[in-house]
Amino acid sequence: MKYKNISIWSDAKQENVCENLSSNIDVDVLIIGGGITGLSTAYHLINSNLKVCLVDKNEIASGVTCRTTGKLTYLQENILSKVAKYHGISKAKDYLDSQIDAINLVKAIITKENISCDLQEVSSYIFSNDKVNKIKKEMDLLNKLNVKLEPATTLPNGKCFNYGFFVKDTYVFHPIKYLHAIKNICLNNNINIYENTKVISINYENSIYECVTETGTIKAKYVVLAMHYPYFLFPFLLPLKTTIEKSYIKAYEVSCDNKFSAITISKPTISMRFHQTKDKCYQLYLNNSHNSCVKFNDKECFKDLTNVNNQEPEYLWSNKDIITNDALPFIGPIDDTNTLLIGTGYNTWGMTNGSIAGKILSDIILNKENKYVKLFSPKRSLNLGKIINLPVSIGSSACAIVKTKIHKNKEWYPDNVRFETRKGKNIAIYTDENKKEHIVYNICPHLKCSLLFNDVEKTWDCPCHGSRFDIDGNTIEGPSNYNITYKDN
Ligand SMILES: Cc1cc2nc3c(=O)[nH]c(=O)nc-3n(C[C@H](O)[C@H](O)[C@H](O)COP(=O)(O)OP(=O)(O)OC[C@H]3O[C@@H](n4cnc5c(N)ncnc54)[C@H](O)[C@@H]3O)c2cc1C
Repeated sequence: MKYKNISIWSDAKQENVCENLSSNIDVDVLIIGGGITGLSTAYHLINSNLKVCLVDKNEIASGVTCRTTGKLTYLQENILSKVAKYHGISKAKDYLDSQIDAINLVKAIITKENISCDLQEVSSYIFSNDKVNKIKKEMDLLNKLNVKLEPATTLPNGKCFNYGFFVKDTYVFHPIKYLHAIKNICLNNNINIYENTKVISINYENSIYECVTETGTIKAKYVVLAMHYPYFLFPFLLPLKTTIEKSYIKAYEVSCDNKFSAITISKPTISMRFHQTKDKCYQLYLNNSHNSCVKFNDKECFKDLTNVNNQEPEYLWSNKDIITNDALPFIGPIDDTNTLLIGTGYNTWGMTNGSIAGKILSDIILNKENKYVKLFSPKRSLNLGKIINLPVSIGSSACAIVKTKIHKNKEWYPDNVRFETRKGKNIAIYTDENKKEHIVYNICPHLKCSLLFNDVEKTWDCPCHGSRFDIDGNTIEGPSNYNITYKDN
């Protein structure tokens, strides 16, 4: 294998991994999840006089945030047109403001804390060869909202297209260097962090949450669900409000450092940015984004990507994010007491949305005004987006459940994967290069979808809601909180 089957950001290792929880503790605020949402929330609770603790089931910053492309931009495909369509133009303006505020917030933190995370100002481009009307619509809207933009038909690296435009005041950074620094600042300011500590149940009684982990119980007055996709259905029923988008990314060496990032408006999405390390410049190239319930051939998607620009990847990986039915994230309380809070559904723009979520969630806990509370409220009322996309959420996962169960198309799986029934259970067997068999139950514990084998990253991936398991069945990413390891008894 010539490439590394991990994200380019995974090379940034933590100096110290925090110990796991080993006793029962009482806190004011428990944050579950140490990605950009959880760590940003913890950061804004420093100096609050509240006892705050953050737990992550793996190491912090190893979830979806570790496999992003790391753009900090408010030019996000045609998301503003969608927000305007579902919520009206004034909400589109509020959303735009929130993204600009998020960028300024991250920049201010980086400056104040002197964080070295390869922040670089770049122009952001949106382009398309076929969806010219969509581009024009987004451009008109941005013009109306007084954003300075310039039309373009060529990217700075010479690639031509039919129609597009760009803005200048946007950024790229190294998301994991940023989060490792935020973690250390939190630790130095009395925020307790426990890694490799999985929350397996949350109970609420007498105004206190009792959050059970495998090694201790945490009692808390507030719980922040910063876990990307919660493992439970109730409250909130996230699967009915969202779909999962999956994408494939490669990083390969290029000769010069281009100062731009770009994304297409047409599907399947193409997105790119550049990343300068001490001695190399990389192009990150993303393609083949799709609703994970409608396309199952990972093999083909990775192959397409590997062939792009005839450039062999040095890093090759996939990622998924949550797409909300009405184009706005869910940030805020999900229960009646306003003490169970969530930050998720970032529509593939979590560097900005996760950062602003940290500020909003901490402001809610601290009883401070925040102008974005209403915009992102998870309890927002019925709207056009929710209505027209509900059948898509339900239909696509129902369709994926049926398709992956009744017809295991050979083309979706490598030759060293086979399926059997043992003691009435469907199992899947992956044989590695040393001829060792790795056996798992071929069913996602979350909502019982069958799993697909991702031959590049060597994981079992659930098409329905994005759970991932390693070859021995250990859960890596939610929503499933349970393993699928086969037990022969
Ligand atoms: C291909 C792709 C490219 C992207 N590029 C960009 C980009 O350029 N710019 C941008 O703004 N956004 C981008 N995004 C979106 C962005 O990466 C995500 O929205 C964001 O990283 C989500 O952060 P998070 O904190 O919610 O989740 P995560 O980073 O996944 O953090 C959640 C954490 O919770 C932990 N956890 C889960 N369950 C439990 C439990 N039971 N107990 C304890 N811990 C638990 C997990 O281990 C994990 O560490 C991209 C997304 C994709 C798919």
